[in-house]
Amino acid sequence: MTGATRVLVLNAGSSSVKYQLIDMVDGTRLAAGLVERIGEHAGRLVHTPHGGDRREAVRPFADHAAALKAVAEELAADGRGLDSPELAAIGHRVVHGGKRFTAPTVVTDEVLTEIRRLVPVAPLHNPANITGIEVARGLRPDLPQVAVFDTAFHTTIPEHAARYAIDTAVADRHRVRRYGFHGTSHQYVSRATARLLGRDPAELNVIVLHLGNGASASAVAGGVCVETSMGLTPLEGLVMGTRSGDVDAGVVFHLHRVGGLSVDEIDDLLNRRSGLLGLAGENDMREILRRVEEQDDPAARLALDAYVHRLRKYLGAYYAVLGRVDAIAFTAGVGENAAPVRAAATAGLTELGIVVDPELNSVRSTEARVISAEYSRVTVAVVPTDEELEIAQQAFTLVHPSH
Ligand code: AMP
Repeated sequence: MTGATRVLVLNAGSSSVKYQLIDMVDGTRLAAGLVERIGEHAGRLVHTPHGGDRREAVRPFADHAAALKAVAEELAADGRGLDSPELAAIGHRVVHGGKRFTAPTVVTDEVLTEIRRLVPVAPLHNPANITGIEVARGLRPDLPQVAVFDTAFHTTIPEHAARYAIDTAVADRHRVRRYGFHGTSHQYVSRATARLLGRDPAELNVIVLHLGNGASASAVAGGVCVETSMGLTPLEGLVMGTRSGDVDAGVVFHLHRVGGLSVDEIDDLLNRRSGLLGLAGENDMREILRRVEEQDDPAARLALDAYVHRLRKYLGAYYAVLGRVDAIAFTAGVGENAAPVRAAATAGLTELGIVVDPELNSVRSTEARVISAEYSRVTVAVVPTDEELEIAQQAFTLVHPSH
């Protein structure tokens, strides 16, 4: 491969920017870092060049423009500045692509306008993603900026699964439907699972369990997503670090009418003070597991049991949705590291052809690996996710289709 082979991946959040510079020849991370607490007094930039020492700067970054300028300076200090002819594209993580964006898309003015139109359905995420794109465009107006959408992989979900059973006209007027999130991760992991098994993704049915601080499950049939657990927003589905996942929508009316909470307070409660945090005062699964093991702490036990119970409900549901399951893939912080959660989620499912080998499950590794017994009809695997690499690959393929 010659010419421009590098992609800068940007993930702009409301007060942070994460980035990686990846060489697409072999996937080498030439640099990785983040700027956090943008707009606050004590901002922080951490930058790690490939093969070099980690650099840290604690100073204010007034806005995203200042943060990205600082990132550009760090990259330039390594001799890999944004003006480098080797840079092929900048890939942007964009959370919400609605129904329109079914694939990675080169950003034009019209595309930006459309992403802006989606702000009402993703008020917490899309504005920061848009700012990231605008600032990056300002720094390198000639370079392709590619938007890679968290929702895109889920746009294949059939209408009967994407619709909420509410009045169609009301739903359509307000674009209320199930979009799903973490799509880049589900896509990457479902393909990586096929690779691990030496199979063609087109012939494999996989349940992907993305268990990070946010968590979601998806059912992928022959490489195509047919169901996922998150909905209009990332609130639906599994019990998460701070999100409740599924609740009866009546809970919202009740808390408002009887409890006197405002809509914003309920939003805050369900998105930021629920899940493991709400049940046990702690959103980190490591700490929950420690409290269960060392102290037999009842609140931590309840949180763990509720988390696992919801996960098993989705596993069973997606088994029925797919009809035949070839593989189950655990990924993200909890899925990749928490053997007790994987064991509990799959225990007693021999009748479904799911048998995890305790020894394989307890192996600690950063590699993709099978953890099911040899005779298990369904292969259970741990498959580390790599959203940045997937974004870089999708962006690169779009601007260099020949590679
Ligand atoms: P992510 O959002 O994918 O970065 O996942 C973050 C979450 O993974 C943390 O909040 C922890 O709860 C969980 N996690 C990370 N390492 C471990 C571990 N060794 N055991 C259990 N949970 C872990």
